[in-house]
Amino acid sequence: MEIVYDEKICVKCLACVSESESGGVTYEDERIKFDKTCPEDWRNIAEICPVGAIAIKDSDEVI
Ligand code: SF4
Repeated sequence: MEIVYDEKICVKCLACVSESESGGVTYEDERIKFDKTCPEDWRNIAEICPVGAIAIKDSDEVI
């Protein structure tokens, strides 16, 4: 599983940070940080983003 995050379109609304329950998404130094080792509902976090800045790719998927 890969988290693809496009910082250029992110509006820093922090919805993904709020949706994160296990510290997988944090806001540090004015940047969104992802820790994919955390047991989050990653697809739900990607869906909550209003601008589609987060995409979840299965590792066996051709990007
Ligand atoms: S939900 Fe999307 S737009 Fe909002 S802070 Fe997270 S990545 Fe950025």
